[in-house]
Formats: sequence, C-alpha cells, structure tokens
Amino acid sequence: HDVQVSVLGLGAMGSALAAALVKAGHATTVWNRSTGKTSDLVAQGAISADTAGEAVRASRLVIACLLDHASVHEVLDPLSGELAGRTLINVTTTTPAQARELAAWAADAGVEYLDGGIMAVPSMIGQPGSSILYSGSTAAFDQYKPLLDLWGTSTYFGEDPGLASLCDLALLAGMYVMFAGFVHGAAMVAPSGVTAGEFAAMATPWLTAMTGAFQGFAAVIDGGDYTVDGQQSLEFSDLGDILTATSDQGISTDVVAMVQHLIQQQIDTGHGEEGFARIMESIKQPG
Ligand code: NDP
Repeated sequence: HDVQVSVLGLGAMGSALAAALVKAGHATTVWNRSTGKTSDLVAQGAISADTAGEAVRASRLVIACLLDHASVHEVLDPLSGELAGRTLINVTTTTPAQARELAAWAADAGVEYLDGGIMAVPSMIGQPGSSILYSGSTAAFDQYKPLLDLWGTSTYFGEDPGLASLCDLALLAGMYVMFAGFVHGAAMVAPSGVTAGEFAAMATPWLTAMTGAFQGFAAVIDGGDYTVDGQQSLEFSDLGDILTATSDQGISTDVVAMVQHLIQQQIDTGHGEEGFARIMESIKQPG
C-alpha cells in the first residue's frame, strides 16, 4: 500500500529512485540542494519540498542519495531533531566505517538506520539486473522491503551497518581488476593489429565462461585445504609466458606482474604444487 516517502538528493541516481517510487503510487516528497531538479518529478506526481527539513517532516521514511558521506552529514546534522522517530535509508556510497559512523549518529538521534549500496546505474533502477545491498536495522528492512524491491533485487546482510558497503566495494574491486585485465589484453594485441573491438568480441564469451571458476575457488578456500586434487598447480600457471609475451609487445607488465607477484609468493614459500586459490594467502598476509 501507499507509503509516504521523502527523497533527499536528485542527482542521476536519486532522480531514478524517486521516479520509481512515484510510478508505484507512493506519496513521494523530493528535495535537492540546487533548484530546478524537481520539475520532471513533480510533473510525474511528486511533491517538491523547498528545504531538506520540510522533506524530512513530510514522511516517516527518508531516503538519502547524496554525493558522499560528508554531504549526508552536511544535510542531516541540522535535522537530527526532526529525524527522531523516523527511518533513514542512506543509499549514498560510503565506506563501511562511514556507514557505521552514520548508524551510530542515527542511533544517538533516535533514528532507525538502514544503509544501502546500489549495484546498478540509474537507467537500471526498476529493471532486471538491478541489485541493492542493505545492512543495518532489520526492522527498517522488513517494513520497507516491498518499497525497496521497486528499485531492484534487495538483499539484506544483517545488523552490521557497514557490511552492505563492504560487499558493494568488494564487488567493485573485483570489477575494476577484471576491467584492468581486459584493457591489458587489448593492449597486448594492439601492436599486432588486433583492434580493441575485435579483442572485446573474444574476451566477452571467454571471461563470462571463466566466472564459472569462482565457486570452485570458493570451495577450496572455504574448505581450508589448498592441496585438494584436481587443481592446476601454481607452478604450472606461473604466468611466465604471459609476462614474456607482454614484454615482447613493448607494453607495461604492471597488471599481470601484480598477479604473478601473488603467485610467486606462494611458490617461494613451498606451495607451488597447490592451486590458484592459494593466492588468498598472499592477499591475507601482505609482504
Ligand atoms: P550526482 O552527481 O548526479 O548527484 C549528486 C547529488 O548530491 C546531487 O543531488 C547534489 O546536489 C547532491 N549533493 C552533493 N553535495 C551536496 C551537499 N554538500 N549538500 C547537499 N547535496 C549535495 O550523483 P549520483 O546521483 O549519480 O550519485 C548519488 C549517490 O549514488 C553517490 O553516492 C553515488 O556513489 C551513488 N551511486 C551512483 C551510481 C551511478 O551510477 N550514478 C551507482 C551506484 C551508486 P546538487 O544538484 O545541488 O549538486
């Protein structure tokens, strides 16, 4: 049924979140620091608030989608009294420590706090493939889950308000290192006349198929025994040929050298016959 909800921050993402709420028929009040960003939403049926305080007072549920942690404090610090007794769902990207700090601030102010990490771009909101990670107040998640599901698949990670942000950033870490791997491959073939587009056509099915290896690595890591049979040994896949071919093309070895460094650390400590999942130990114990 109808929920009264206020959205603070109408950037690309806040506007997409607010539009989905309006479309679903929720009484949606919107506010943005600079003026002129509310008109589209008002045309769709949203109510415009002149101040953040007015927006907070309009609804028991307040969504913050601002630039960063500092901007959330800048907007909400003066409104702690008005926020008391309400629920704050903050989907602004922050670090886990910042999410925990905001949760503590909210607890002091008597505010129910749920932190969210958005795994989508604005055009994906409300579409298949959109996923949002939450942690913090169980009561807030349970009460508002039907509304949150309007934006994408909602996953709850428990009471630690930093855990959604941690998973968000861990997923992005995986993404960026994969992206760097793709660009490295494109740089390797470029001097030999293969375009980046041609390389992308090869890399997309290849890397997609290789994600099938994640669960196998996870089973070894979670099992706590890196010596289980059926793994390709680190000595066999030490990346030597890849590094040589990279140097021969006259390009930087940084991206693959980083991975080889993690492998070499395990070979040097006598674990060369174990599988790739073993690099977990290099990452857990730097140096
Ligand atoms: P935009 O840059 O489009 O919008 C930023 C918003 O923050 C604007 O409404 C801006 O107001 C407001 N803002 C910035 N500083 C302040 C301040 N000091 N006081 C009040 N308001 C302020 O960013 P997005 O909408 O794309 O992103 C919003 C959040 O969502 C970010 O934390 C981002 O990391 C996260 N996110 C975004 C994704 C994306 O693909 N866009 C994906 C996943 C997460 P004003 O208009 O006045 O400048």
